[in-house]
Amino acid sequence: MAQAPGENEDREGVMFIGPSGKVLGQLLDIASVPRESVYMTNLVKCMLPGYRKPKSDEIEACSVYLDEEIELVDPEVLVPMGYFATRYLLDKYSLDVPGRKSFGELYGNLMLADGGKLLPLEHPAAVVYDSAKMELLSAHYRKLGVLSKECKWYDMCPMKRYYRAGILDRKWVELYCKGDWSLCVRYEIEESGMAHPDWMLPDGSIDHSLRETAGI
Ligand code: SF4
Repeated sequence: MAQAPGENEDREGVMFIGPSGKVLGQLLDIASVPRESVYMTNLVKCMLPGYRKPKSDEIEACSVYLDEEIELVDPEVLVPMGYFATRYLLDKYSLDVPGRKSFGELYGNLMLADGGKLLPLEHPAAVVYDSAKMELLSAHYRKLGVLSKECKWYDMCPMKRYYRAGILDRKWVELYCKGDWSLCVRYEIEESGMAHPDWMLPDGSIDHSLRETAGI
């Protein structure tokens, strides 16, 4: 979900056909995510004169369509690109909106939103203006590939047993096992073949209450 169409996109009625589209194609290739598997839309539906920032009344006018699109498409993961698209979804799902200075820390970090998932990413145009950003955006866009499949350890992971037994908060499964397993501390340890307690949570913290039910 991008901010608004550019000149070419507005004229042709097709998203991401300009220079940003080329970068987006490269980033999706890096993430091994086919472009056809992604539903694309904009926060504001018409080109903004001089590529200026959208005004709040413009966002409000277009959000009726956007909200309906989200309801109809019901995506597995909502991916807002850039400040305004991300900010709109944070507000929509009553999530904390960080200050402008720390806003960039949201990019590449999966979060839960009203039963669904949200992965804010930088807009590909960032690379058009500064090619040095390609490395950072590649790392963040790779998460799209991670999210497209659940963790390979899930079937044998104690977290699955705990979750099914109703003693583990859903957020751990959604954010890690069926989300960004590349960030899971348990995953890293599994890969290195080292030992770890069953009651270690994906972020590496220890939940002793799970230990009492480790036999589940
Ligand atoms: S807890 Fe970690 S290792 Fe276990 S299934 Fe979830 S992501 Fe994979």
